[in-house]
Amino acid sequence: MYNATKGLILPTTIIGSLPRPSWFTENIGSNTFLRSMMNSRYREQYTDAVAVHLTDQEAVGLDICTDGDAHYDEEVGGQSWTSYPLYHMEGFDKANPQAAIMRTGGVAFPMGHILHDYLEARVMPKIVGPIGRGDLQYTAMWKTAQRMTSKPVKFGTITPELLAAAVDDKYYKDPVERVMALSNAINEELNELADAGCPIIQLEEPQIHMIPARGNVFGKLDMKAMVDVFNNTTKGLGDKTEVWCHTCWGNPSQQRMFKEIQSYEPSLEFLNQVDADVLTFESCSSAMQDIPAIGKIITEKKIAIGMIDHHSLQIEKPEDIATRIKDTLKHIPAERLILSSDCGMGREGMSRRHARYKMSALVQGANIVKRELGLPEATSLASDGRYSLVPTE
Ligand SMILES: [Zn+2]
Repeated sequence: MYNATKGLILPTTIIGSLPRPSWFTENIGSNTFLRSMMNSRYREQYTDAVAVHLTDQEAVGLDICTDGDAHYDEEVGGQSWTSYPLYHMEGFDKANPQAAIMRTGGVAFPMGHILHDYLEARVMPKIVGPIGRGDLQYTAMWKTAQRMTSKPVKFGTITPELLAAAVDDKYYKDPVERVMALSNAINEELNELADAGCPIIQLEEPQIHMIPARGNVFGKLDMKAMVDVFNNTTKGLGDKTEVWCHTCWGNPSQQRMFKEIQSYEPSLEFLNQVDADVLTFESCSSAMQDIPAIGKIITEKKIAIGMIDHHSLQIEKPEDIATRIKDTLKHIPAERLILSSDCGMGREGMSRRHARYKMSALVQGANIVKRELGLPEATSLASDGRYSLVPTE
């Protein structure tokens, strides 16, 4: 159901992660989140990190915030997005993690490629028993952020099929059984999160659009079956909160995973069938090539379009963002359009200042369009010339 974005025209947000502050040196490791928060140094660093992420987003004027994915540890290429759930759910042999088998579906990264480090860093626990939600503790993480801001805080999680692809399995006989067990466990966790009042829950990277791009690395799970997995993972959420489905073309170490630009076109009919209120699309990095097709096929759900590129350190110009928004509005009405980043900016290597000014450019670009359309502009303290420290004549 529409909740956080209800009634908002052209709201702005980011997908999730932001670059970790350099002074945030503590990690959860094999501890639980709540156990980590017992440690006064972790608690101070963690809550301060979430606070600066929120302040940056509020100062530039985003409408929907995230905790910057501060709950993830500092792992190679942002691997914690995948490893955190695996090390905190039930059913895994956490004491004996091993390098995971590569199931890359033709997207291989040999020695000498930066993403080979990422593959080597996939040291994951094996499945040895029935999977349960264990100590994910997403609700506690979301509450820790939401109590610092009156803006809605979106909370995201990796999808079950990606977790299933990252681990060896000594328990389930069938890969589909493995995916569904993870899906059920995450569904339970997300229902608790929705019941606690989380205004937006985001499922990150269902592999529906990846099947035409990579071939089916999930065995029997074709695009239709992948839609069913998504809808099982989000079962019960739609009546309680706003559900977002984030899609992109990969973001390990802030790198592109494909040599050629990929298209959403072959998967749009299927993406349209997921039980989500909002679909997000990586678009800026592919020169907005899929916007006409997206507008034609996704006619009911809201659509979040990436207007800034997470791969590049170049800050987009507000005027260029405004042009992209206006071009997009030819295909998607303003009432259903949300403006976002393509993917997270905190997977590795980008500085906090780069991310901050990318977010600032997004809001300034959106404000140009809102001004032209006679819509209320977002307050952006971070781009308000009255607070510049540069002396004027
Ligand atoms: Zn992404």
